[in-house]
Amino acid sequence: MQENMDTYSFKGRKALIRVDLNVPQDAAGNVTDDTRLRAVLPTIKKVLGDGGSVILMSHLGRPKGKVVEAMSLRPIAAYLSGLIERPVLFATDCIGPDARNKAAALQPGELLLLENLRFHPEEEGGDEAFAKALAELGDVFINDAFGTAHRAHASTTIVAKYFPNDKLFGFLMQQEIDSVSKVLGDPQRPMTAIVGGSKVSSKIDVLENLLDICDELIIGGGMANTFVKAMGGETGASLVEEDLLDTAKGIIEKAGTRGVELHIPTDAVVADAFSVSANTDQCPSNAVPDDWMALDIGPDTIRSFRDAISRSRTILWNGPMGVFEMEPFQRGTVEVAEAIAKATDQGAFSLVGGGDSVAAVNQFGLSDRMSYVSTGGGAMLEYLEGKVLPGIAAIQN
Ligand code: AMP
Repeated sequence: MQENMDTYSFKGRKALIRVDLNVPQDAAGNVTDDTRLRAVLPTIKKVLGDGGSVILMSHLGRPKGKVVEAMSLRPIAAYLSGLIERPVLFATDCIGPDARNKAAALQPGELLLLENLRFHPEEEGGDEAFAKALAELGDVFINDAFGTAHRAHASTTIVAKYFPNDKLFGFLMQQEIDSVSKVLGDPQRPMTAIVGGSKVSSKIDVLENLLDICDELIIGGGMANTFVKAMGGETGASLVEEDLLDTAKGIIEKAGTRGVELHIPTDAVVADAFSVSANTDQCPSNAVPDDWMALDIGPDTIRSFRDAISRSRTILWNGPMGVFEMEPFQRGTVEVAEAIAKATDQGAFSLVGGGDSVAAVNQFGLSDRMSYVSTGGGAMLEYLEGKVLPGIAAIQN
């Protein structure tokens, strides 16, 4: 059986933990959102509490294989120390003598943070020797960085092979995996997938994969216009991907043959410009006047999406229903988020996976009412496409 955070004995061991400390900072380097730091605390505390020591490794920003002082993790060590209420030692490089000496001297209960992995081009290159040098610092490898699990980098994937019997998922990573498997594995039915966002092109593989799994598929956001046009509608100046009209038709046909109930907007909030101060109106989604664009779903659509959501036992949501960043085009996304929260209150399992829908539930203060809100944008998208993520496979193999 694969070891996990609860079964593994960390006493007297040095845990090398890949975390995602890639937090947003202001111009002066102050942390402006510490969600990612708080998210990895349970894993760190477990190891330390069991009498082990911790060596943290992470990237920060995109230094592209060079030392960029502004992307140093040193200020993060200080911040983390405040959160965890104990000293956090810092190694000025992630490999080499300073890291080796400090790791070797580490005592149970102590915590060491290594400098930015991406100061070395070998990190993103998945270099074996670099991964081995990292591996030599610890006795057990824990991957708790879901946000980079789709990358076969040295610290996320390659390093795992040097710990054939001592590699495991951290608590955060395990939660992500468990949540996805509740949705894509053997979901309670009916299972409804809600996909929105700007473009069909970035979600084709997600839609294809979900058609094999879900009972109902809701399509909203800018990408819905391509479907409306594919069905012969007039979409005015709305965002439409002309080259994907056939792809959209194919998805509509597949939904039919697979018995998936497909929901496409029937009405829209339209605007005469892509702007908060635009003139707005409502109209059928397949009769958008020339020079007007659909920027949100309309009230009839909201009603039918809400009905589908309320009868679901499992709900997956990826992508907003409209341009929710602008108040006049926010309602569709708010109402869908509220409908999911309500269904969750009544016992459905809901996963909010990826990018802007995560931002939306946070903005609306609804994240606590979702069963799980994913921390990984790109990684979640690839997971929903049905891909095997290298960072996950490396631990499971
Ligand atoms: P994505 O990154 O593909 O998930 O798309 C998210 C973006 O889609 C958000 O910034 C929304 O403002 C945008 N979006 C949603 N609905 C529309 C729409 N009807 N027209 C244009 N952009 C939209």
